[in-house]
Amino acid sequence: MTVQHSPERTTAPTPSDGEVHAAVARARDAALWWGALDFTDRKGWLLEFRSRIARTSASLIDTVREETGKPKDDALLEVMLAVEHLTWAAKNARRVLRERSVHPGLVSINHAASVRYQPMGVVGVIGPWNYPVYTPMGSLAYAMAAGNAVVFKPSELTPRTGTWLADAWASLAAPHQVLQTVTGDGRVGEALCRSGVDKLAFTGSTATAKKVMAVCAETLTPIVVEGGGKDALLVDATADLEAAATFAAFGAMGNAGQTCAGVERIYVVEEVADRFVDILTSRVRDLRVGDADDAQYGRMTLPKQVDIVRDQVEDALARGGRAVVGGLESVRAPYVDPIVLLDVPEDSSAVAEETFGPTVVVNRVRDLDEGIERANASKYGLGASVFTASKAAAERAADRLRVGVVTVNSVLGFAAVGALPFGGVGDSGFGRIHGADGLREFSRVKSVTKQRFAAPLGLVTMTRKRRDVAVARLLLTKVYGR
Ligand code: NAP
Repeated sequence: MTVQHSPERTTAPTPSDGEVHAAVARARDAALWWGALDFTDRKGWLLEFRSRIARTSASLIDTVREETGKPKDDALLEVMLAVEHLTWAAKNARRVLRERSVHPGLVSINHAASVRYQPMGVVGVIGPWNYPVYTPMGSLAYAMAAGNAVVFKPSELTPRTGTWLADAWASLAAPHQVLQTVTGDGRVGEALCRSGVDKLAFTGSTATAKKVMAVCAETLTPIVVEGGGKDALLVDATADLEAAATFAAFGAMGNAGQTCAGVERIYVVEEVADRFVDILTSRVRDLRVGDADDAQYGRMTLPKQVDIVRDQVEDALARGGRAVVGGLESVRAPYVDPIVLLDVPEDSSAVAEETFGPTVVVNRVRDLDEGIERANASKYGLGASVFTASKAAAERAADRLRVGVVTVNSVLGFAAVGALPFGGVGDSGFGRIHGADGLREFSRVKSVTKQRFAAPLGLVTMTRKRRDVAVARLLLTKVYGR
């Protein structure tokens, strides 16, 4: 028997600007304690945080399900991936961020030179609703592991999930609130941008990213932007079509298509296109959609997203595209049944704009190179997948695709790999979360030189000798001018 489940909209307190500033002030105190701990101590706390989340994950999973409407298994997967990243960040911060000596070079041979990565202080994290645990954890875990305190503003659609995470930290009884959550809508996000945080990590739409960036520009607050996407999946003539269609179905329809790096466009080489479309059709046609416990995906979390999907499908069909699975009738708010569109003009909104729904466009291309070209024609550049049996073709695609992450013969391959940086180019944003680059993203880089002995050439003095300048000139022309 399946149990019907009614998603709940949560109302959460909206703090005033003053309360947001107070949270940041508390975080600043916490950062003094946290930033002064050594890596081993921080690792200990973070792994305890990790264990706490994992041990009590059942209630987190329920909360995610209630707030987003996604199936329980998807919520579980999300929490598992988040915990994986928390573990990686905790265990690798020391290796990545400890002081590192560098060669000083010929001219500065009398110096010892090194690079230090120091905590920035307080990091503000603004997150979306689609993966309300996994997505912010990409910033929270890495910012905390780098020695920063965090103030987190979750989406107004998922406040209880955000609060759950801060409560889990608080339950460790650490002497300071290294992680706090402030709930509320975009105005609270804006207050966080203005609060004097040392860095702002934003994940959300490109349109909001521009507003966030404009506010942060007022105080030169640096930001990292994880924005939207219009990811392409390329199917080469040599591809395993069964696998390509199976992964394409997950990439496009999983989480009701509400995945930043989900599959929104498929470019399939002409000679295998019909066969691929047949298999893809069979994979998505009968997906179970709804709030029942055995649904394969749930409702559209953000009600207005349904209108975007409808508009794009309407535009695609009006401009000569064909629906081989579903159609306008599939849009039955708050759900959207799977829609597969074929031969849609490249300048239609269904191809050019982020959809964020369970629809996918399949267009035919002459060869893989044309697929790469079309994939790259997007203003977005988050991720891409390529299916091919040719190692050379896979390498060529990985090199030439203008995106932050490429997955070969699968989809979303980066998601669970802690060591891999994640982020986009163009309208998909800039900066990186995850991996060593993600740890450095939340660190202040400091270069240190220590003079070990007097310089053989006295050039950094107000009383340079003619002989030293002559040697410098000789160096310049004979060594560098070779
Ligand atoms: P959104 O509408 O841009 O909101 C993102 C966050 O920004 C929310 O917490 C939102 O608060 C807040 N916000 C809104 N206006 C703000 C303002 N003026 N100043 C500061 N903060 C403000 O995005 P969403 O609908 O939540 O999420 C979907 C988008 O996120 C999609 O475009 C998706 O591709 C993208 N995304 C990207 C990644 C990635 O890693 N690249 C991952 C997941 C999602 P309220 O919601 O409370 O208004």
